[in-house]
Amino acid sequence: MTATASDSRPGVSATASPPPKTARKLSALAGLLPFLRPYRGYLAVATVMLVLSSAAMLVVPIAFRDLIDKGFVRNATSGDINGHFAALGVLAVFWALATAGRYYFVSWIGERVTADLRSAVYRRMLFQAPAYFETTRTGEVLSRLTGDTTLVQTVVGSSVSMGLRSVLQFIGGLVMLGVTSPRLFAITAVLLIAVVVPLVAIGRAVKRVSRDAQDRVADTSAIAGEILNAVPTVQAFTQENAEAARYDRTVESSFDSAIRRTRLRAAMTAGIIGGVFGAIVFVLWLGAQAVVAGTMSAGQLASFVLYAVLTAGGVGVIAEVWGDVMRAAGATERLIELLHAESTIQPPAHPKPLPESRQARIEFRDLSFRYPSRPDTAALDHIALDIREGETVAVVGPSGAGKTTLFQLLLRFHDASSGAILFNGVDLRDLDPESLRARIGIVPQDAVIFSADAATNIRYGNPNATDEEVRAAARTARADEFIERLPDGYATFLGERGLRLSGGQRQRIAIARAILKNPPLLLLDEATSALDAESEQYVQRGLEAAMVGRTTLVIAHRLATVQRADRIVVMDAGKIVEIGTPAELVANGGLYARLASLQLMA
Ligand code: ADP
Repeated sequence: MTATASDSRPGVSATASPPPKTARKLSALAGLLPFLRPYRGYLAVATVMLVLSSAAMLVVPIAFRDLIDKGFVRNATSGDINGHFAALGVLAVFWALATAGRYYFVSWIGERVTADLRSAVYRRMLFQAPAYFETTRTGEVLSRLTGDTTLVQTVVGSSVSMGLRSVLQFIGGLVMLGVTSPRLFAITAVLLIAVVVPLVAIGRAVKRVSRDAQDRVADTSAIAGEILNAVPTVQAFTQENAEAARYDRTVESSFDSAIRRTRLRAAMTAGIIGGVFGAIVFVLWLGAQAVVAGTMSAGQLASFVLYAVLTAGGVGVIAEVWGDVMRAAGATERLIELLHAESTIQPPAHPKPLPESRQARIEFRDLSFRYPSRPDTAALDHIALDIREGETVAVVGPSGAGKTTLFQLLLRFHDASSGAILFNGVDLRDLDPESLRARIGIVPQDAVIFSADAATNIRYGNPNATDEEVRAAARTARADEFIERLPDGYATFLGERGLRLSGGQRQRIAIARAILKNPPLLLLDEATSALDAESEQYVQRGLEAAMVGRTTLVIAHRLATVQRADRIVVMDAGKIVEIGTPAELVANGGLYARLASLQLMA
C-alpha cells in the first residue's frame, strides 16, 4: 500500500513524479547550442530586435522629459506641443514593432528548438537496445519528452529574452539614473538595495515552499492514481474509510504547504508595494525639493522616476527568470543525457553484407549468455545447435529455461557473453542489425496491435505491400475469416478504443504480418494461454502455412506443433538437455516425455 503510482505503473509517473530538480551548473544549457546553430539567422534578427526594443524603452523617459520641460511650459506654441507628441507617438510605434518582432523571433526559435529536441530524443530512444528499457522507465522518458522539453521551450522561447531585456533595462536604467541626477541616484541605489535584497530572500523562500507544495500535490495524485485503479480490491477489504482518511491526510498536508506559501506571498506583496512605492514617494519628495530649489527641472524629475521604475522592474524580472533558467538547465542536462545514450548493440564499423537468399541456416556455437542485471546466473549455458535450411525446430522446456532469451539473442537484442550465433555462416556481430532483422519474421506470444486499422496493422510487416498482398497474407494466416466480418473489414480501426480482438485473432494478425514480411527465418512464440478450440484450429493452420518454405524456430506449447516439427530441442535451466524427433524423445523417457505427459498433452 505504500507503493506510489510511479512504482507500480510507469505510465503514471509523468504526472506523479516530483518536479524536476534544478541543475547545479548553468553550463548545462550549452548542450542546446547544437540545436540553436542551424537558426543563426533567426538568432541574429532576434538579437537586433532585442537591442532595438530595449533602446526604445530607454528613450521613452527622455521623450517625456522633453515633453514636460519644453512642451508644457507657459510660452510653448501649439507647434512645439505637436512636435513633442508626434515624437512620442513615433517612439511608441517603433517600440511596439521592435517588441513584437523580438517576441515573434524568440518564440519561433523556442518552438523550433523544442520540436527538434523532441524528435532527436525520440529517435534516439527508438534505436536503443531493449536492455535500455529495463533500467529506464518509459514513464520517465515520456515525462522528459513532454515536461523537460516544455521547460526548455519556455526558457529559450521567452525567459531568456525577457532576462536579457531586463539586463539591458537594468544597466541602461542605472546609467541613465546616474546621468540624470548623481545625487538622487546614490540615494535611490541605497533604497533599492534596502528594498530588493529582503524581497529576493523572501522570493527564495516562496520558491522553496512552492516546490514543497508541488511535491505534496504530486503525493495526492500518486495515491489517488493507485487507489482508483484498485477500487474493487479496496472495497473487498472494506478499506474505503481508511483510504479516504489516508488521502485526507495528504490533502491536508498539501493545504498546509499551500497556506505557508500564500502567507509568504502576502508578505512579499506588502513588501513590494510598501517598499517600492514608499521609496518612490521619498525620492519624489527629494526631487520635488530640488525642483523648487531650481537644481532640477520637472522633466528631469519625471524621467528620473521613470528610470527608477525601469531599473527596479528589471531587477524583479531577472530574479524571476533566474529560477526558470536554472530549471531549464536541469531539464537540458537530462535531455542531453538521453540524447547521448549509447545503445549496447552497435552495428560494426564495416558490416559484412548478407547475400540475398531465401534460405536461413543458424548455428549456435557454444553460446552462453547472462543478463547484465543478473550476472550470476547463465540464462543460456553453452548452447550448441545447428539448424538446417528449411528445418522446423520446436523448442520446449519449463518456464525460465531460456527459450525466449534464445529468440532475443537471435534478433540481436543482446550480445552473447561467450560463443557466437551465425546466420548463413556470418557472425551476428559482423552484421548490421537492420539487415539481420529484415530477414527474420517474429510472431510473439502476445501480439502487439497498433491503434490503426486492420490493413495497416498487417502492413507493418511490409509497408510497401499492396492491398491485394495484405489480403493474401491475411488469407494465408487465416485472419481474413474474422477481418471480413468486422464492421469495416480491413479498414476497421483496431485501437484500444475500438473493438477488442481475442487472443487468437491478435495472433493471426501477427502471423499475417510475418507472412507479409516473407522472411527466410521465422520465430514463433506460441501463446501459452488457452485459445478456444475454433480459434486454436485457425491459428494452428495459419502457423503451418507461415512455416512453409522457411526455417522456423518455434517455442512450442502445443503437442500438435511439436509433432509437426522436424526436431525438438528440450531446454532446462539454460542448457539443451535433449534433442531429437518426437518419437525418439518419448522413447527416451526423459524431460520431454515428462513434459509431454504433463503439459503439452493438456
Ligand atoms: P523461458 O522463455 O524459457 O521461459 P527466459 O528466456 O524468459 O525463459 O528466461 C531465462 C532466464 O533468464 C530466467 O531465469 C529468467 O528469469 C531470466 N531472465 C529473462 N529475462 C531477463 C531479463 N530481462 N533480465 C534478467 N533476467 C532475465
